[in-house]
Amino acid sequence: MKKVLIFGMILLIAGGQANAQFFQRGTCSTPVGQLMLKEKDSLGSRGVSDNYHLWDNGTTLLVKFMPGGSKILRDKVMLYAREWSKFGNINFKFVADTASFTHVRVKLGKGYGHNSAVGTESKFRRQNEQTMNFDTLYWADADYYVAKLKAKNINPPYNLNQLIAEMRADPNHWNEKELRRVVMHEFGHALGLLHEQSYPGAIKWKKTDSVYNYYWQTQGWDKEKVDFNVFEVSNQFYTNGTTYDPKSIMHYSIAAWQTTDGYTMKDNYELSTGDKTLIGALYPKGKKVSDLEVPRVDVSNFGKMNVMSDANRRGLVITPSFDLKSNSKTGEVYFVARLATEDGYYIQTTSPYYNWGGTAAVYQKINVLPNAKVSYNKAGKKNLELFIPYNQIPETYGKKVIVVFAVYLDDVKNKQMDKLMYFSTTTPMSLPR
Ligand SMILES: [Zn+2]
Repeated sequence: MKKVLIFGMILLIAGGQANAQFFQRGTCSTPVGQLMLKEKDSLGSRGVSDNYHLWDNGTTLLVKFMPGGSKILRDKVMLYAREWSKFGNINFKFVADTASFTHVRVKLGKGYGHNSAVGTESKFRRQNEQTMNFDTLYWADADYYVAKLKAKNINPPYNLNQLIAEMRADPNHWNEKELRRVVMHEFGHALGLLHEQSYPGAIKWKKTDSVYNYYWQTQGWDKEKVDFNVFEVSNQFYTNGTTYDPKSIMHYSIAAWQTTDGYTMKDNYELSTGDKTLIGALYPKGKKVSDLEVPRVDVSNFGKMNVMSDANRRGLVITPSFDLKSNSKTGEVYFVARLATEDGYYIQTTSPYYNWGGTAAVYQKINVLPNAKVSYNKAGKKNLELFIPYNQIPETYGKKVIVVFAVYLDDVKNKQMDKLMYFSTTTPMSLPR
């Protein structure tokens, strides 16, 4: 059975024990693309950018901070995020914490690692959830705080609790260089960029227990997640015609023991020439649409997803309500309602008809014209119904059911299938039979 990882903010184990460098520093734990749903069967291509989750060129993204984070830190985040706007036609407008709608929501906190939704995947998260995490512990000026501990005759190894205590007593000593690097990296994800080390064939990864253990201990990633986030992504790729860019801000640092040929990479602290060129190509200034544009649909104003039991037809009637907008390219769009149990597993089925990738589901294919705007189940109009008969829903042994609604797009021309455009779930409900 497959776990539905609802709103895939992956919690990071923040490395409770200090390492040789005194305090572990977080690498980026951004779940890329459809990993958010932890579905091995739906891996599409990916690349240095995920062009299916780019924002419209010229968008001003509304950004707010979730509760927490000092003004000093917030100012730094805003300053360094804007580095990208110098090179691409995309801007960030930071709005009040009370704003009811934003595209990007930043949480400055402890224990969540550094990560971000990739581009428009932030729409899969609710407005009261963050789309980007920064772990401010990893921004501490560790040298400064270690010196303070040493001055008290406290010897290493140190743990994070000692660091936290020192930061509380004497706040705002930050590693500015690291903070700037991480902010630019995560906002790169928010614009749709992916990890550069996943460029096909760029890194000869060693796939040994020690590598898996490293990611388990530093990131809390199991083998499957390491395969996906670090290794597998490099096999299928969409690179926008770029060459591998070892200087990219989107590159992880790599130690020699992780590669078969001893290749190493240190952290990059600046946007590379490649980064600037790519963001300028994805979000061109002085041009309406990027030459790299692929089909996309935008789902907005998602209202309540109505799920009703119909006693006469003996089945579930699902009527989601939303607005759909397409861009200048044509793709094939599927509205899919999949069923999962309340404990987070998709319900498996062998039904030939009510089946989406082995999951009990109902779906409808829609032809969407370029630059179209369509409203579904809005203003009293009923124009989208997904119906699944009870006898097509496998036994759940008393467990409640969650309806997982998704919009997928097939870019047939480029042979890129199952691009997830939207994702929303209901609360668990009892299923009449
Ligand atoms: Zn990252």
